[in-house]
Amino acid sequence: MEGRFDLVIVGGGMVGAAVALSLADTQLNIALLERSLPEAFSADQPMDLRVSALSPASIDLLDQLGAWQPILSLRACPYQRMRVWEMDEDAPGLAGQAARNLATEFSAQEISMSELGYIVENRLVQRALLDQLSGQSNISLITDGVERIDYSAASTIIELDSGKSLMTPLVIAADGGKSMVRDAAALGAHQWDYEQMAMVINVETLLPQQDITWQQFYPSGPRALLPLPGSNASLVWYDAPERVQQLMSMEFDQLKTTIEANFPNRLGGIKSIQARASFPLRRLHAQRYVDEGVALLGDAAHQINPLAGQGVNLGFQDVVAFSEVIHDALSRNESISSVDVLKRYEQKRRNANLLMMQSMDLFYRLFSNQKKPLKLVRNLMLGIAGAAKPARVKALRIASGIDRF
Ligand SMILES: Cc1cc2nc3c(=O)[nH]c(=O)nc-3n(C[C@H](O)[C@H](O)[C@H](O)COP(=O)(O)OP(=O)(O)OC[C@H]3O[C@@H](n4cnc5c(N)ncnc54)[C@H](O)[C@@H]3O)c2cc1C
Repeated sequence: MEGRFDLVIVGGGMVGAAVALSLADTQLNIALLERSLPEAFSADQPMDLRVSALSPASIDLLDQLGAWQPILSLRACPYQRMRVWEMDEDAPGLAGQAARNLATEFSAQEISMSELGYIVENRLVQRALLDQLSGQSNISLITDGVERIDYSAASTIIELDSGKSLMTPLVIAADGGKSMVRDAAALGAHQWDYEQMAMVINVETLLPQQDITWQQFYPSGPRALLPLPGSNASLVWYDAPERVQQLMSMEFDQLKTTIEANFPNRLGGIKSIQARASFPLRRLHAQRYVDEGVALLGDAAHQINPLAGQGVNLGFQDVVAFSEVIHDALSRNESISSVDVLKRYEQKRRNANLLMMQSMDLFYRLFSNQKKPLKLVRNLMLGIAGAAKPARVKALRIASGIDRF
């Protein structure tokens, strides 16, 4: 046996790195395991294809952890407005007029904020969090993969790719949707694949539109723009897997023309395509988040349809709740690996995450088809969202992580 720790976190992605840092002020001896570390930032580095729309609540957490100012000093794009619509509002005449009436635009002013959030590259968030760990004497960042987990309520043994092994009374799963920890502890999960994939394309746009995220719904799935620093943007094209595969096989020139022909007119033309990737869309919710000596956080506990960009925002809320529970238990001299203590974390988060996942499913089902009655409901929803001020403000506050459901 190579090492014994009070707590071992498997996965040093955005969520794992944040939970480690959130416990840096305790006396706990913590190991954070990450198989592949992100490379250090350099200004000429191409932008990461994985970007996240971070809510004000997530930004607050990153700020408390000392990672937000470093991120801001690298690359991040604030946005003040968010527009959602169904038909092509750029269409001429009455059709365009009708669509304009059914579009809804939210603004930061409505919730008295200076911005609705920031679009940040995942790699930079992860890197900034990991950089903060270097000054923490109670946290060991171990660059190694987990090969096997022998879960036991009393003491779990974690075998690493390097042949070393660690022992701990409390293992935290922050190892993403395909969590090995979740499987080893037999916590179970409900899961299925959506009938769409997401294609993400980093582009340089001809028009500057850096203060807004927008999304247009088509029966085949939404098409969206997330602004990035400079005149760059991350385009997201949700569609059937066969269509996404076809788009992935196109040369950049052909893809550029296809995007210009299929995205809303407000995209306004593309100067160049920098990179693209596709992601399967999976819905996953762990049946239990905790057991004696184990807890799941972030995507290891829940994977949500990314259409409203809530995935890591929920993960960061898990971090806040988990850290509160552990600090509270330590102050009362309770055992932090006990299932009674860990259940307090599950109670704070499982239903809240479930509600957000169900809301995204409702959106997905409502907008991804052409049935007439559903079209009526959609138009009603967009109409109400455009008109009812208290409901709009509440929805925005929930999406921003300021309020709970
Ligand atoms: C197309 C798309 C767009 C998205 N947009 C948004 C958005 O706008 N806003 C938002 O909030 N969310 C968004 N998400 C979701 C977001 O990316 C995820 O919720 C987030 O990355 C989850 O973070 P995590 O740290 O829990 O897991 P992960 O990011 O999956 O990190 C897990 C880490 O664990 C490590 N690991 C795994 N297994 C092992 C092992 N055996 N040994 C050692 N290390 C291991 C991995 O290397 C990785 O670093 C989007 C997702 C997709 C697919």
